[in-house]
This record gives sequence, structure tokens and C-alpha cells, in this order.
Amino acid sequence: MNVLDGATITAPHLVDCDVAIVGSGPAGAAAARTMAEGGLRVVVLEEGPWVKPRDYPLDGFSAMARLYRDMGANVALGNAPMPVLQGRVVGGTSVVNGAISWRLPEDVRAGWVQDDPALGETLDAETLRQLFDGIEADLGIAPTTDAVAGPKNLLMAKGAEALGLEHRPIARNTRGCEGLGRCLQGCSAGRKQSMDLTYLPVACEHGAQILSRVTVTGVETHSGRAIGVVGQAAGGGRVTVRAQHAVVLAASAIQTPILLQKSGLRHGPVGLNLQAHPGVAVVGQFRETVRMWEGATQGHEVIGLRKEGIKFEALGYDPAIIAGRMDGMGREFARNLSQMDHEAHWGVAVRAHGRGRVRVGFRGRPMIQYNLTSRDVNCLRRGVRVLGEMFFAAGAERVLPGAHGFAAVVDNVRDIVRFETEGPTRPDAYHGAITHLFGTCKMGSDPATSVVRADFRHHTVAGLYVADSSVFPTATGVNPQTAILAFATLCGRRVLAA
Ligand SMILES: Cc1cc2nc3c(=O)[nH]c(=O)nc-3n(C[C@H](O)[C@H](O)[C@H](O)COP(=O)(O)OP(=O)(O)OC[C@H]3O[C@@H](n4cnc5c(N)ncnc54)[C@H](O)[C@@H]3O)c2cc1C
Ligand code: SF4
Repeated sequence: MNVLDGATITAPHLVDCDVAIVGSGPAGAAAARTMAEGGLRVVVLEEGPWVKPRDYPLDGFSAMARLYRDMGANVALGNAPMPVLQGRVVGGTSVVNGAISWRLPEDVRAGWVQDDPALGETLDAETLRQLFDGIEADLGIAPTTDAVAGPKNLLMAKGAEALGLEHRPIARNTRGCEGLGRCLQGCSAGRKQSMDLTYLPVACEHGAQILSRVTVTGVETHSGRAIGVVGQAAGGGRVTVRAQHAVVLAASAIQTPILLQKSGLRHGPVGLNLQAHPGVAVVGQFRETVRMWEGATQGHEVIGLRKEGIKFEALGYDPAIIAGRMDGMGREFARNLSQMDHEAHWGVAVRAHGRGRVRVGFRGRPMIQYNLTSRDVNCLRRGVRVLGEMFFAAGAERVLPGAHGFAAVVDNVRDIVRFETEGPTRPDAYHGAITHLFGTCKMGSDPATSVVRADFRHHTVAGLYVADSSVFPTATGVNPQTAILAFATLCGRRVLAA
């Protein structure tokens, strides 16, 4: 790959190109590939380092320090403070995500077009279908096989089946997955088809250049037109990229609105309308050995309640991270630790109605505010109850709902069923986390209520585009990477056509 490490840039550095792209995650990579293949000279600027799979740290905390933004310690403040997890590496969050691949559901697409018919042309159902076919072929997207699922995923299938809930092996963007269970630390075997191994190398084969460890600090404009970006290299040099044709922001639904605000481009509801899929994990303890850190990281999902805005997934993470959420002190903690290999963690994610905002805070860092609604908390209560029932149906002896104000350990179905009506109603009773982000530079026809037009162009600045999930009008209720890849490809095509 053609990567210039910003640590080597110690003096002012000027680059001329056709298109400057900020961010190398799914949005930046898909846009880069599309435009480089179309013959444009593309430069991708990425704040994080380029790390090869063999160098991904194996333990959870080191991986978070090397590959995640701020070690995963960014927090959304509000009625339920929650960590907001994002990658910060060449390939973006695709390097550390669960590889779960979902097409944008047709009901979500149709709802957006119904609310704003101007989106219909860009988000044409047949065009998207063809894009999804292509992405699935490119990234080896296929259902997880039993051979690599491991007990945590197979137990979820058993529990859902017993309750009559629709469930299935998760389709994932992997090739030759060995079930090492390390997706969230980066797949050291190189099996996950993250952007650093797929779309970015293709873009580079077509002439794109990646500047890693360069933090873009502003979008430059002249006479109402974007003409490039400026940034700071890790080596201390100031980087200026002059873009003849376009600037494409693909820095994520948190960083893109921040960059616009810092650049003084405050048109429309930039940074508002933040939407997410907050999720919580429930623990099941089994007599048999589960070893949840083995098997495909996230290999099974329950989709029967998707229309209610509730989705369940098996989880897999490193023992060090699991230990961080364990109860007990002293001997009790030691005993719990010794039982760790009998635990499974399953998550519920909610298509929340909560809204938030992102703005520039202390020292230019993003300040994220986000509040859950009472309806969202009710979805969590229902989700925890259903997960608990699934655990018991799969043979668990105990369930740990993980919410303050309810029994820490439940050993029968009757009590976990009570969680739906008697579980805590305070949002901050739950240990949630946010990994899917949307809506902060909403796409739409009305400049008063949106930041970019229906074709990704900024409403007021010519030559400026937003390609990431900032533009999604709402949360999607499903894992967003595949939809982001499709949208960014469409954005790239739009730039090519301009
Ligand atoms: C732990 C975890 C698990 C997940 N699992 C799944 C999953 O299984 N399936 C799924 O569909 N989705 C999953 N997601 C979500 C998915 O990975 C993201 O929605 C997706 O990666 C977002 O793509 P993006 O390109 O918009 O942003 P990102 O992937 O976040 O990439 C943005 C990039 O821009 C860079 N950047 C930001 N600001 C600047 C700047 N000023 N200058 C230079 N560079 C900058 C960042 O460093 C980053 O590398 C998961 C997320 C997390 C955190
Ligand atoms: S489960 Fe393991 S082998 Fe499979 S993609 Fe994830 S990290 Fe790689």
C-alpha cells in the first residue's frame, strides 16, 4: 500500500491531488476506491497509524490503546453516560469491529424516502441491491459456519430456538475465519476483510496515496468552494493538501461534524440529530465450559424483535475486558475469575429514539451529549428479559442482568421475566456502550433541516461532500458498515460525475 507515515513529516508538506478524503474507515475507503478506479488522483488522510495484522496487540487493553480512539474512553454525557467506541487506525473502525454485515433493511430505506422523496433517486432500491451484491462478493460476506462458531454462538441458537425467536448465524466479512475470537482487537490472522486489507489496497493500486498519522484540522475554502484540507503530522510538520476537484469528509459521525464546526462551516444542523444503537450485555453462567473468547467473535444473532427496534448478538471479547466487569472483591472476585470460562455474554442493541449532539469542546476535542428516552429504557428492559430467558432456555444456571437496582444474580426464569416490568427505569442503571453512530450531518432536500443534499454535496460549500454515516437520516437498527460502504460508493460516483 502507498502509505506515507506522518511521523516522518517533520517540515511543511504540500500535496496536490484531485480529491482529499478525510478518514480511512469504511466510508473513506469505499469513496477512495471508487474515485481512484474512476481515474481521480486521491489522497486519504488518516489520524491513526497503519498497523499490519501481525502487529495487532493480542490483549484487549493494548489493542484498545493502539487501535482505538482515546483507548475507547470517549464518553457520551447525558442521562446515561456511555463509552463511544471508535477505531483510530488505517482502515478505521473496520479494523476492530465485529465483522457483522447487514444490508440496509428495505423498511428503513423506504421510511427515509417517504419522509423526504428527494432521497429516492440516490437511494434507489435496485442500485443499492447491486451495490450490496458487489460488496458481499468483495468482502467474502457469508454466514458463520458451525465449524468456527464455538459454544457461545451455538448456545444462543439453542436458546432462541427454544423460545421460538427468529435467529440465524451472522453473515460476516471474513475469509477463512479461524474462530480466534479476536475481531475486536483486530484479526491478527488477517481473516477479517477490514478496509486496510481490501478497499484501501485497491485504491492504492489505482494511484491513491494514504497519509497516516496526520490529523486534519480544517477544511480550506475559497469563494464558497472547498479547495483542500490542512492538518498536523505526527512528526510535527504542517500538511496542506490542495484538492482540484473535491474534499470528501469520511471521518465518522463524531469527527466529521467536528471538522466542519472547526472549519467555521456551521450551516444547518451540523452536529445535531446524533442517533445511535446503545447496547448492554447480559451474562449467562453455564455448568459446561463456554470459553467465550473462543469461536467467531460475534457469530449468532436473534432478529425476531428487529421491528420493535431490538436486536440481540452473541459477544466475544478478551478475558482482560471480561474481568473488568466482574463483581466481587478479594476471594469472591478470585472465585468469579476462576469461573470465567463458564460464562457467555450476549448483547441487546436498541434502535434508540434518543437524540444527541456533537460539538467542539475543551482543546478542540468532541463533546458528545446523548440522552436515552423512556421508550429506549423500556426496550433495554425487554431486551434484558428476553436475553435472560434465552440463557435459561439454553441451559444457563444463573443470569447476571448487569443493571443497578435489580438482583445481581438471577437463578430462575420467573425472576428474569420480572425484569421487563420491574427492571430499573433510570437510564444510568445500565452499563451501556455505543458503537454505531448516525445523523450528525443529515442528508436531505431542506437546507434548514439538513447539512448535505440528497447527493452528498454540502448545501452551501461547492466541492465539499460527506460520505459517512453522519448523512444517514436516522439510525438503521442494524449493523451499519455495509450500508456505509454502499453510501460512500454512491458518494464517490457523485464526485466522479461532477
Ligand atoms: C467495537 C465495535 C464493533 C463494531 N462492530 C460492527 C459490526 O460488527 N458490523 C458493523 O456493521 N458495524 C460495526 N461497528 C460499527 C462500524 O465499524 C462503524 O459504523 C464504521 O466503521 C463507521 O465507518 P466510518 O468510515 O464512518 O468511520 P470510522 O470507521 O470510524 O473511520 C473514521 C476514520 O477517520 C479518522 N479520522 C477522524 N477524524 C480525523 C481527522 N480529523 N483527521 C484524520 N483522520 C481522522 C479516524 O481515525 C478513523 O480511522 C462496530 C463499531 C465498534 C466500535
Ligand atoms: S473470529 Fe478470529 S479469525 Fe475470525 S475474523 Fe475474527 S479475529 Fe479473525
